[in-house]
Amino acid sequence: MTDILPASPTASVASTTRKYRFATEVVTVDNSDDPHNAASVPIYQTATFKQKTATGSGEYDYSRSGNPTRTHVENHLAKIMGAERALVVTSGMGALDVITRLVSAGEEIIAGDDLYGGTNRLLTFLAKSQNVKTHHIDTTKSDSILPYLSDKTRLVLLESPTNPLIKISDIPTISKYVHERCPNALVVVDNTMMSPYLQRPLELGADISYHSGTKYLSGHHDLMAGVIGSKTAAVGDELYYVINATGCGLSPFDSWLLLRGVKTLAVRMDKQQASCIRIANYLEDQGFKVHFPGLRSHPQHDLHASMASGPGAVLSFETGDTGISERIVEGAKLWSISVSFGCVNSLISMPCRMSHASIPAHVRAERSLPEDLIRLCVGIEDVEDLLEDLEQALHISGALPSK
Ligand SMILES: *Cc1c(COP(=O)(O)O)cnc(C)c1O
Repeated sequence: MTDILPASPTASVASTTRKYRFATEVVTVDNSDDPHNAASVPIYQTATFKQKTATGSGEYDYSRSGNPTRTHVENHLAKIMGAERALVVTSGMGALDVITRLVSAGEEIIAGDDLYGGTNRLLTFLAKSQNVKTHHIDTTKSDSILPYLSDKTRLVLLESPTNPLIKISDIPTISKYVHERCPNALVVVDNTMMSPYLQRPLELGADISYHSGTKYLSGHHDLMAGVIGSKTAAVGDELYYVINATGCGLSPFDSWLLLRGVKTLAVRMDKQQASCIRIANYLEDQGFKVHFPGLRSHPQHDLHASMASGPGAVLSFETGDTGISERIVEGAKLWSISVSFGCVNSLISMPCRMSHASIPAHVRAERSLPEDLIRLCVGIEDVEDLLEDLEQALHISGALPSK
């Protein structure tokens, strides 16, 4: 509740350095400070903490400012993200909201032109209400950022791969340009699509990496969360200040669910990715235009491979006909029609009708977002079942000749 920095509860657990390989670290949560040696971090379902003295000098006083369950998940995530500090909030958009509060009126943001729909909406709102302008550029061409970098630049916001067109940005090169020319600007990467298992932007030159914890980190579509990791303690303290001031820290129960979910990140992602690679190859063999960085045909296959250890488990493909796409989506039985991704269950959607419908049609056209695009988010079901279900939907829709 205090306003003095750094009022944040500090790490009650061990260091943030990784000692083992990722899959080991992600399942190994340090809970060595637990008074009862609980194997699982308990849920501290309390708003307040009693103090021992009149000056209230305890590590925790009020759960908006800090809660032990939240601290544990934050420390654990800092370790796996390679962050100096990690913070968890109530949604991925909440994470971006916290980050954009580092921008003052009159300063500018540079961002990609194929952004998550909600990100677009927040940036549009900031332009209208806060006098914070965003320049949208094609971040697949690193040099296109150069004309926009100025002393007004405060944030450079990247997604790689983008969603749903799966375009890749060169995080190291863009970070280098920004840091050379704008020492006050921060490079921010939305790493939701990859998760820290496959890509760690802070190791590639970014200053802040954030995730929708609703997706792969939690993995079961049973909570909403946002995760922010910062390279320096100073930026971490600024972000913490905003979270405490605005009250968007993740609740104890959701912190616990996130910590529970993240332990299986590597095993889930390995399975989801392997199945996605099979499905991408199958669709390409049938003659569809498939967007997936694991395919040799992806124009930025090598750039992606230089930054990430795998292509992930989301792909999109074009059928050439909106009606056919609708019939495929509706004909799939095992694949749920749903926005979002990162769940253990497989999902299918038409981005222009669902997740990206908030982007006006003319802007979708400008950004060459095909109306017939289908996005597949591959889960952990048996891949043979997923392929058989997809195949029957392709036949019913008329995309492939009926059997
Ligand atoms: C889902 C998503 C977000 C927003 O996260 P929420 O948890 O839904 O608020 C931001 N960026 C990307 C890439 C996403 O997929």
